[in-house]
Amino acid sequence: MVWTKKMECEKCGAEYMVSEHKHPARDKGTIVCECGHEIFEWNCAALYSWERIEADEGSD
Ligand SMILES: [Zn+2]
Repeated sequence: MVWTKKMECEKCGAEYMVSEHKHPARDKGTIVCECGHEIFEWNCAALYSWERIEADEGSD
């Protein structure tokens, strides 16, 4: 893993933890929020994985 950082959807405020991984071939793609807003776009020799950060503050 190269890096992990938190990204926030500008539209709905949902937070995602995004990780970049090394990849031998050039790849491209996008990370799209559950609301449909595009959060991140890549076109490079890397792969990305991401997961929604569930807001646990204020629950219950
Ligand atoms: Zn969103």
